[in-house]
Amino acid sequence: MSTILFQDIIFGPVKSRRLGISLGINLLPLNRKFCNFDCLYCECGLGNMKGRSTLPKAEQVVTALDLKLQALLAEGVIPDVLTFAGNGEPTVHPDFPAIIDAVIILRDRWVPKAKISVLSNSSRIDKAEIRAALLKVDNNILKLDSALESTVQLLNRPVRNTYSIQEQIQYMQLFEGKLIVQTLFVRGTFEGKTIDNTSEEEITAWIEALRKIKPRSVMIYTIDRETPVQSLEKIPLKELEKIARRLQDATGLPSTIAG
Ligand code: SF4
Repeated sequence: MSTILFQDIIFGPVKSRRLGISLGINLLPLNRKFCNFDCLYCECGLGNMKGRSTLPKAEQVVTALDLKLQALLAEGVIPDVLTFAGNGEPTVHPDFPAIIDAVIILRDRWVPKAKISVLSNSSRIDKAEIRAALLKVDNNILKLDSALESTVQLLNRPVRNTYSIQEQIQYMQLFEGKLIVQTLFVRGTFEGKTIDNTSEEEITAWIEALRKIKPRSVMIYTIDRETPVQSLEKIPLKELEKIARRLQDATGLPSTIAG
């Protein structure tokens, strides 16, 4: 099993399949996953928030980004996007809203054409301050791998035992279209159970949820590298394209595909 853990607060820039030249911002502990989900496909490996961990302080994040942007500019490198991602879920950082404000100031000062993206699992959008912060960024990218509770429990494995995807779908509607939904399609087995979020039942429920959420667009993708659960399979590009066409026909929503 291979895992990718970021060892810095600011990482990259890297060429992202979905975002272009991306400079990453990791608000999570270095060298350790820290997430309130435990997705079977997580490139950071399996495991979650158990145990003590130190998160970087807001000032450390701001200083590191400030220095990195100045160094990149000196080399003539301008990122397309500043992306909150890294070793887990960025919105669990207690200073997430303040860090968003500070990053917007730095972006405006050094790389005004760069977009700010947040890749989030959506789990904390029930908090008004998190929604307000996400509304300030260019690309508020929220996970919806399935609209079925049983699949979310099996595939995304939220830590909170009262977690409900139906509730999260209602919170997504509060963004009034100012969000991008990201869905990773995958098939496989885990501990004797079958996982397949491409089945007819899944796609029907997913399209119905997206009809309610009305996102600006939908990112459809599949696993790219080795996953911690070896039995997971990549979904062929043709199948992803078919799902995108069904979504477009049923709702008119645009999508991007990364196979
Ligand atoms: S939400 Fe992201 S970081 Fe968290 S377990 Fe899932 S893939 Fe990993």
